[in-house]
Amino acid sequence: MKIFLIILCFLSSCVVKKHSILDNGITKQFLTGQFEYIQDSSFVKVDSYLTVQDVYLQKETYKQYMKMYKHAQQDGANLVLLSGTRNLPHQIKVWNRKWNNTLSSKNATKQNLEFVAMPMASRHHWGTDLDFWDISNNLEKGENGYKWLTQNANKYGFYQVYTSKEEEPNRAGYNEEKWHWSYLPLACEYLQEYNKQVKIEDITGFQGDEFVKELNIIKNYVNGVTDKAKNC
Ligand SMILES: [Zn+2]
Repeated sequence: MKIFLIILCFLSSCVVKKHSILDNGITKQFLTGQFEYIQDSSFVKVDSYLTVQDVYLQKETYKQYMKMYKHAQQDGANLVLLSGTRNLPHQIKVWNRKWNNTLSSKNATKQNLEFVAMPMASRHHWGTDLDFWDISNNLEKGENGYKWLTQNANKYGFYQVYTSKEEEPNRAGYNEEKWHWSYLPLACEYLQEYNKQVKIEDITGFQGDEFVKELNIIKNYVNGVTDKAKNC
């Protein structure tokens, strides 16, 4: 019996994905990362040769990503992923890791917000956004890949949403992130739903949450993206 179960477990990869958070539509619970993507049938683990650590994406995002990846490979650009979906507990970990204890709570919050999204306010909750491992803002690393993405990624639905503030002075929120790309055919609608469903008082449960209102996180940060990411 035990051996039978082990074989069965092996054949089904031990994870039976029957349900998805998205079966109930685009809910506040989904938009704020309050679900387990590893057990979710709309999410899939990215093949390890494409990443430097475990990365999950929504199935549609991954399908389009693979088309883009193959095209990039043909052109000699090697794309490597660092990060994809993060749920609420994961984003809280990222937030806490960057938290600077030597600063006042308000200044630590502001410093984090230069590059890290607040938990419940991150596009990484949606399975549509990804970070590339070797692309940085100063482009000493990943110049080839970044250049290829700026010329080709849009054809596959991927866009840089945190752009240069010098080029887009009306964009509020996070600094430029050349490594962060978003699959807008899904994410654009999620942002619109976020604006309809999530209220500023919903964003709570982590250090610095007392500044959510004052810093107007939804207006300035969740919506601190390119016009293209807001209009669909
Ligand atoms: Zn990111």
